[in-house]
Amino acid sequence: MEEEKIDVQAYAMQKDQEDPLKGYRNQFYLPKQANGEPYVYFCGNSLGLQPKSVKEAVNQELLDWQNLGVEGHLQAKNPWLPYHEYLTPAMAKMVGAKEHEVVVMNTLSVNLHLMMVSFYQPKGDRNKILIESDAFPSDRYAVTSQIRYHGLDPTDCLIALAPRTGEHCLRPEDIAESIKQHGDSIALILIGNTNYYTGQYFDMKAITKLGHDLGCTVGFDCAHAAGNVALQLHDSGADFAVWCSYKYLNAGPGSIGACFVHERHGNRTDLPKFTGWWGHNKETRFGMRDAYDPIPGAESWQLSNPPILSIAAVWASLKLFDEVGMDALTRKSLELTGYLLALIDSLDNPRIEVLTPLDPNQRGSQVSIRVKDSGKSLFDELYNNGIIADWREPDVIRVAPVPFYNTFQEVFMFVEILKSLLVDE
Ligand SMILES: *Cc1c(COP(=O)(O)O)cnc(C)c1O
Repeated sequence: MEEEKIDVQAYAMQKDQEDPLKGYRNQFYLPKQANGEPYVYFCGNSLGLQPKSVKEAVNQELLDWQNLGVEGHLQAKNPWLPYHEYLTPAMAKMVGAKEHEVVVMNTLSVNLHLMMVSFYQPKGDRNKILIESDAFPSDRYAVTSQIRYHGLDPTDCLIALAPRTGEHCLRPEDIAESIKQHGDSIALILIGNTNYYTGQYFDMKAITKLGHDLGCTVGFDCAHAAGNVALQLHDSGADFAVWCSYKYLNAGPGSIGACFVHERHGNRTDLPKFTGWWGHNKETRFGMRDAYDPIPGAESWQLSNPPILSIAAVWASLKLFDEVGMDALTRKSLELTGYLLALIDSLDNPRIEVLTPLDPNQRGSQVSIRVKDSGKSLFDELYNNGIIADWREPDVIRVAPVPFYNTFQEVFMFVEILKSLLVDE
């Protein structure tokens, strides 16, 4: 038994030594325990850690504002006027989109509403929205309020896809069945991908095709996928997607989010849209008198000039993603979670149930673990033992070993501590 433990630990040490991304851990600030040791931070799915490069990036903008005032719009080292455009190439690459399909703006729930203004168009009997039954609460509130905004009743117009009794994840065939069954009455399919609770990742292309074949619009909330899974938004064919940048994108609490609008919608003038001056033709924007003349592509959904201090942090973080690429990150991520799942399995503890799909094509960095008959005290004990994870009532721990800054040895430590706490209970 003891020998086996040394073997799996030795494996972790070797994997860390051979890790092509090992240099990146040192480019992030790791929260420290009272004893000076870093926490095992498995909460990058909730709030990613701060890249060390962020401070300099934000300071540059503070300095230019200090020295230039309004002139910074044109004369800052990175002029503020086109600032959001600096982020577009890396952001588009990260989510597998064309540059004119992506815009960094607002925050996530706001973008979701703006997208639904354009892409939730209930007409006659086609008036429903299909979501997952365990959709993130903000998304549920957003779709419910959109339904009401159109004078409709959510009890008639909201379809929530639920897993089968006794199961946690949605089966692809059940998603397909539901779309087929309700297709004629669905105006919008909105799926959280990756699901925030179970960590399940869905086949976007397949869902989009099923929806489109039946005349439904299809959008995705990629808050838990951006920076986590190698997305191919353009090829998925989805009509739109939204995401934030403070989770896997490591851009700081409440930082500015982003949007994808498929190019086939980029120049449509028939779509209802809430508009503002930042979506107007850049050449004549400051004419201030001209009739609204939208910029082609996703940028035309912009309303306001963006918060430069926040977007500077997103840019600094995106540079790391651009350097490494999603393929390398995903490779390590799947190895980390594969190792975690194997260790949990070897505990052979009937109280532990993994909610996340074991199939590597159906998950990202996050593993959701139910510990039956436990309570928040287990989570508190993990914290006292140097582990920061995420707790969902009543008994689920969500852990996300992030390839940028987590190690195989941290995964090993986590499982050892979990094991010892379950013995003590
Ligand atoms: C994190 C998250 C949100 C949070 O929305 P904000 O507008 O950024 O506060 C909403 N939806 C999903 C699916 C999320 O994962």
